[in-house]
Amino acid sequence: MLEKGKTIGILGGGQLARMLAVAAPRIGYRTHIYDQDPDSPASEIASCCTIGSFHDKALLQKFAKSIDVATYEFENIPNSAIAEIEKNVQIFPKKNALAISQDRIQEKKFFRKLNLKTVEYEIVSSFENFSTAITKLKAPSILKTCRDGYDGKGQLLITKDTKKDEVENHLLNGPCILESFLNFEKELSVIIARTESGDVVSFDPGENIHKSGILHTTTVPTKISKPIQIDAIIIAGKIINALNYVGVLGVELFITFNGEIIVNEIAPRVHNSGHWTQNGCVIDQFEQHIRAISGRRLGDGERHSDVTMINILGEAINDSLNITDGAIHLYGKKDIRDGRKMGHINYVSQKSS
Ligand code: ADP
Ligand code: MG
Repeated sequence: MLEKGKTIGILGGGQLARMLAVAAPRIGYRTHIYDQDPDSPASEIASCCTIGSFHDKALLQKFAKSIDVATYEFENIPNSAIAEIEKNVQIFPKKNALAISQDRIQEKKFFRKLNLKTVEYEIVSSFENFSTAITKLKAPSILKTCRDGYDGKGQLLITKDTKKDEVENHLLNGPCILESFLNFEKELSVIIARTESGDVVSFDPGENIHKSGILHTTTVPTKISKPIQIDAIIIAGKIINALNYVGVLGVELFITFNGEIIVNEIAPRVHNSGHWTQNGCVIDQFEQHIRAISGRRLGDGERHSDVTMINILGEAINDSLNITDGAIHLYGKKDIRDGRKMGHINYVSQKSS
């Protein structure tokens, strides 16, 4: 177990790092952020910051020597940066989970190896591949870049009207997969945590609504039946154990109108759809992650309230300051841009089920 007073290094200084940096000192740890941006959201909270590139090996080495364990808040970190950190300290979640989540093809193969259902997909790296794939899967489909996608970025909806040059342009971003478009009933996510010794604790599944590929709201409890909720947690448990995972993991799922559970993707980190835990649980996903990576016992994950979490995007931040009936969590971002996550609000009510 990491003794109190030790330092947790966090790669990336966005809002997730900021909220980890709020949770860590509560249970006795310092935080040290590594980010390229001197004004990152986490920088005004963390004990210490290193400002630099994820390609600066010497600086990464220096950072690694100043911390006692490392974690990260986004999955698109260069592998070379991870390798540099690992020369000095352990990094959690471990590399296997990171590698799988960085590549949609690896991710889908991993799910299928575990006998979990995914949408139909084809690997596409040229227009010829695409033509064969779309004949099989048919429109509507979604062409997704294999790497570096988030918040719906790197995705092209393919309809009957999509032009050849749109597809060719999209393929310039690198290898893609074509996924058949699933007309799902609901989207759920399970936020689950595991320690190195194999203890696993899940939060209740949240029901997510996305707008333009960006999470809009998460609601707990979901209206999906209890047996499906339990199955969703079992699937997340299967995934987290198969990865021998340490930390908090986000598992995104689609529920079909027949009640089938289709696994969409995993995120090896705290997750936007777990922000409700800040006001719905005694121990939130951020503290749970810090507990898991520092070898502390996990919190019980029990939900004490119903919560609807709403993301504050772009200019909506200006109105959010007038809100008096929800818990506001702002990220301290200076530039307001359309669709940029500026904060979130947790609306809390008495537990209904
Ligand atoms: P990201 O890495 O950007 O989160 P996702 O694969 O989770 O990528 O896609 C973002 C959102 O787009 C999903 O949460 C879902 O609402 C929608 N989506 C993704 N894939 C499909 C699909 N095959 N069918 C229908 N909707 C999808
Ligand atoms: Mg997603």
